[in-house]
Amino acid sequence: QSQELSEAQIDYHAALQALVENGTRMVCTGRMHTDRICRFESLCYSTEAEEFVYFHSNSSVMLPNLGSRRFQPALLDLSSVEDHNTQYFNFVELPAAALKFMPKPVFVPDVALIANRFNPDNLMHVFHDDLLPIYYTMQQFSDLDLEARLFFMEGWTEGVHFDLYKLLSNKQPLLREELKTLGRLLCFTKSYVGLSKITTWYQYGFVQPQGPKANILVSGNEIRQFTKFMMQKLNISSEQSSSEEYIVVFSRTINRLILNEAELILALAQEFQMKTISVSLEEHSFSDIVRLISNASMLVSMHGAQLVMSLFLPRGATVVELFPYAINPEHYTPYKTLATLPGMDLQYIAWQNTDREDTVTYPDRPWDQGGIAHLDKAEQERIIKSTEVPRHLCCRNPEWLFRAYQDTKVNIPSLIHVIRQTVKSKPGPKRQKWSGSLYPGKVRDAKCQASVQGTSEAKLAVSWQIPWNLRYLKVREVKYEVWIQEQGENTYMPYILSHQNHTFSENIKPFTIYLVWIRCIFNKNLLGPFADVLLCST
Ligand code: UDP
Repeated sequence: QSQELSEAQIDYHAALQALVENGTRMVCTGRMHTDRICRFESLCYSTEAEEFVYFHSNSSVMLPNLGSRRFQPALLDLSSVEDHNTQYFNFVELPAAALKFMPKPVFVPDVALIANRFNPDNLMHVFHDDLLPIYYTMQQFSDLDLEARLFFMEGWTEGVHFDLYKLLSNKQPLLREELKTLGRLLCFTKSYVGLSKITTWYQYGFVQPQGPKANILVSGNEIRQFTKFMMQKLNISSEQSSSEEYIVVFSRTINRLILNEAELILALAQEFQMKTISVSLEEHSFSDIVRLISNASMLVSMHGAQLVMSLFLPRGATVVELFPYAINPEHYTPYKTLATLPGMDLQYIAWQNTDREDTVTYPDRPWDQGGIAHLDKAEQERIIKSTEVPRHLCCRNPEWLFRAYQDTKVNIPSLIHVIRQTVKSKPGPKRQKWSGSLYPGKVRDAKCQASVQGTSEAKLAVSWQIPWNLRYLKVREVKYEVWIQEQGENTYMPYILSHQNHTFSENIKPFTIYLVWIRCIFNKNLLGPFADVLLCST
C-alpha cells in the first residue's frame, strides 16, 4: 500500500467487510447533471478500466436513481464548466459479490474531493474553473476540510500552477496517472464528486459566443474571502501599511506583447505621479505578483489570462485592459465581468488599438499561435483586411487567434485619454469602509380603512410599521412603495411614500375591492420584499 495514503491507519478487514456488505452509497444534491454534486461512501475506481465502480448490495443507496437517464448525457459534470461533453462523470455498476473475483481493493482513508481541472495551464481557467469552485465546494460540505484530499481526474500532468492547487488542502492532490501506482482497485471511504458552479461568472463560448454567465451568483465579498484564504496560505499579509501608491503593468513576454512598454510605464508614472512597475509570470514568483497587486492602485495589462490576478486588487483600484487591433472589447469580457461584479469595487477601463499601423501580426506562426498560412489564400486575405473579428464560438477560430496574438504599440495619448475619462484625480484604493448593501425586510402590521363619500367618491387609509431589521440599521433614506390594484385588473397605481401611512383618494371608487402591495426601499435601489397583500373593500 502506498505511503501517500497510509497516514491514517484503517482496519483493512473491517473496511473490506463493510464494502462487501454495504456496497456503495450515493446521495446527491441537484436536479440536473449540471448542478449535481454527489456524496459517496465506498465509491471505487478501477485504474485498469479507468472507470469508477458502484457496488450493489442489500444496503447500497443510489439517489437520484435515474435508471438509464444516468447516461443522458451523464450523472454530473466533473468540472465547473457547464455541460462540457469531455467533462462528464459516470460509474459502472457491479454486484458487491463480484469483489471476490477482483483485485484486492486499496482503501483511501482521506475524505476525497474528486473533480476535473478544466485547463490547468491557463491562469484564468485555474482560478475561475478550478480554485474558486474547489474552495467553495469545500466550504459547502463540512467534512471537506483541510485534511481532505483532492483527486484530479482530467488526466493532465501537474501543470505550471500546481502549487496553487496544493494550497487548498494539507494533503498532496493526486492526479489520475498517479492512481495506478496505488493499486488496481481503489475504494474511497468517503468522497464528494463534482464541483460547485456557484462562483463562476463566465462562459467560454462552447454553444454561444463567449460572455458573462446568464445568472451570476457570486459577489466581491465571496471572491475576497477566497483571496484572503489564498494570501494567508502564501504568507502574504493583506493589509500592508506601506503608504506609497503605485501602478502595476502586468506584461506578457512570449506573445501579445506591448511593444513600447518602457514608454508606457514612463507615461503612466508621469501622468498619475506614481511609481509604475512591471511584472510578468515569467520573471516573478506568483507570491511576489500577488503581494504587489494586492496593494496596487491600478493594474494595466493586455487582454489575457494574467488579468485574472485582478482578483487580488484592493477595493477601489482600477483595471485597465488593453485589446489588440480588431478585437472588440465588448466581445471578450471575462475580466470586465470580474471587475464589475457587485461588491468587487473595482473600476474597469478597456482600451483598444484602432490603428493598423500600431499592430504587428504573425501570419506564419503555427495555427494555435495565430498563424493563418494554412488557410486558403482568399480566406487569408479576408482576415487580413477585416477590421473586427466577428463573434465566434470557442476555441479554434483562426481569425480570432490571428488577432489575439498580435503585438501592439500602445498609442499613449489615446490610452491616457481613455483612463482619464474614468480616473479623474489619483487612482487607487479608496480606504473604504465595508459598503455591503443590506435589504429591508417586509413592512409589518399593514392595515387599511376605507371610507365612502356619496356614490362616486371613496378614500383608502393605509398604514404599516417599519421592517423589523430597520430598528438595528442606519439607513440614509427609507421610502415605501405602495401599489394599489383593483381586484381583477392587471394594472396598478404605484406610489413612492416617505411616511408609514397615507390616505389614497385619487381613482378610488366606492364598493370596490382593492389589493394593496407595500414594500420598503433603502437608499433608492435596495428593494425589499412585498408584505402579504392587503385586501381592502371600500
Ligand atoms: N502567458 C504568459 N506570458 C505570455 C503568454 C502567455 O504568462 O507571454 C500565460 C497566460 O497568462 C496564460 C497561459 O500562459 O496563463 C496561456 O496563455 P494563452 O495566450 O494561451 O491564453 P490567454 O492568456 O489568451 O487566456
